[in-house]
Parts: sequence; C-alpha cells; structure tokens
Amino acid sequence: MIEEILPNLYKIEIPLSKSPLKALNSYVIKNSERNLVIDTGWNQEECMNAMQTSLRELGVDIRKTDFFITHLHADHFGLVSNLMTDTTTIYFNQPDADRFRSGFPWDDFVTFARLNGYPENELQAIRQTHPGFMFRAKDDLVFYILKEGDTISIGDYVFKCVETPGHTWGHMCLFEPNKKIFVAGDHILNNITPNIQLWSDEWNPLKEYLASLDKVYEIDIELVLPGHRGISKNCKERIKELKNHHLRRLDEIISILEKGNKNAFQVASQMTWDITYDSWDLFPVSQKWFATGEAISHLKYLEEIGKIKTEMRGRGRVYSLNMDA
Ligand SMILES: [Zn+2]
Repeated sequence: MIEEILPNLYKIEIPLSKSPLKALNSYVIKNSERNLVIDTGWNQEECMNAMQTSLRELGVDIRKTDFFITHLHADHFGLVSNLMTDTTTIYFNQPDADRFRSGFPWDDFVTFARLNGYPENELQAIRQTHPGFMFRAKDDLVFYILKEGDTISIGDYVFKCVETPGHTWGHMCLFEPNKKIFVAGDHILNNITPNIQLWSDEWNPLKEYLASLDKVYEIDIELVLPGHRGISKNCKERIKELKNHHLRRLDEIISILEKGNKNAFQVASQMTWDITYDSWDLFPVSQKWFATGEAISHLKYLEEIGKIKTEMRGRGRVYSLNMDA
C-alpha cells in the first residue's frame, strides 16, 4: 500500500472498488512543520479507512497536513472534505474551483446527453451509479488558488505548478525541477489512457489536452508520478503514445461516420474500448457514460477542424462527414 519514492515522499494506494481504475495514487510529502497530501480518493468509507491507516503508518498528523488537488474529479478530490481540519490549506485551481462552487450540473448533463442520443431509461440510471456524483465532496470548501508558475515549498521539495487543461478545465500538475519529478494527476497515465470527456458546448477539451501534452513534452522530467497505476520514467515516450492514441481515435470515428450519419451515443457504441465486456449492451451504465463523453470530445475536435459537421434531426444532434473538407 505504501511505497517510498524519494526521501520523505511516499505513494499510497487508495482503493476505488468496482472502478476499472482500481486505485488512486495519493502522494504524501512528510515534513516537520506541515505535511502535504496530493489527491485523496472518493468521499466514502473504504477510501477514508485506507487513507487514515496509511497516514498513521507514516506517522503523518492530519492536523498538520495540507492538500494539493490536481483536479475536480471525485476520485482525487472527494475525500478532502472529510480529511480537512480548521487549519488545513487546500491548494486548487480556479477553473475547477468555479465548477465545484456551481454544484454538480446534473440537469445540464442530462439535457446534453439527451441531445447526443443517450437513451432515456439509462439517463435515469446514471444518477444512481455515477461515482463522480455519489462520492463527491459535499461541504463548502475554501481554496488557496494556484496558477501557472506558482510554487509550493515543503522540506527539500519546491513544486512548480503547471496548468494542464484537458482532462478537466483546470487540471494542474506539479513539477519539481531539482528532482525532475512530475506529479501528473490524470494528465499522463501509464497502462491506461486518461479519459477526455465533453458534456457541454463550452469548450474543446481534446484540443486543450493535446496542447497540454505538447507543453509537458518540453519539460525535463525523469520520473512521472501519475494519479493511477504505476510510476514511470519514460515521459516523452508516453506522451507520444497518448497523442497517437487520440489520433487513432479520430481516424476511427471518421471511418465509423463513413458508414453513415450517427449521433454521439451510436458512435461511442461502435468505437473499440479497452474494457472486459463482450458487447456494448453489457457495459455498466457508468462506463457507457464515460465512453459517450469521450466520443463527444473527439467529435467536437473533428467538427472544429472542419472534418465533420452536425445537424439537428428532431431533438437530437447528428454527425456526418463534411464532404466539402
Ligand atoms: Zn480524473
């Protein structure tokens, strides 16, 4: 459960039961004055127990601990509301803090999902099974907002903030230039690919994500500490793989639309997913939700570069190849 990465820097695994992610990596930096915990796990009992047991084993006093949260998703952020005390500082980014304050946007999600062909009966089920909703942080929280280039000093470590939007609006990583370690959150993962979802017309997350990958490619990183699965040394190699993955995805969607116009839910059902179910119909509701959000982010990207176009058919949005392109 606990792994020492560097002096006073530990990785602890917080289990995420029934999630294909399996566990969250929380990183703990021990220091005589204030400790720092990076990312926390869901707001539920099993995560809380794992966190408390590990901190106890490390001799970390929660009353002398601050938190840095890479992004808004509940598996990273949710538990912080149960761990904080009167003296806790929670470091966070402005775009995700704004979304947190405006509350979980169920109605907007449902309207957007319906527009994209999401079946009505499954829309009702998703509310009961969406981990981001079930295990979210529930209190009013006060944040210390960090921006690009800001630093957090703790013991021998001086972490520099690197804004990496894409996985969420304000996703933020930390880079330690002397040790050349990079706390990646869900920006760079190893054995799995970060989920890039879109559930509104507000932005183009895949475009931002690819730009954030290019930005991190330029940084001299020796060790990546990701939010899930194992740590890794081949940062540049992995960034190339992640970019290729999304380019293949875009090609796949083009070939799906070559066979006929479709809504986003239908596109998602025909994409290949790295998940152990025999058919799309057998996917758990929450996995279909993630898959559809991923399909929409890629459709949005293709639409913005003019490769595909959308039109309204009845109450739904349908995508087709742009023959003028
Ligand atoms: Zn995430």
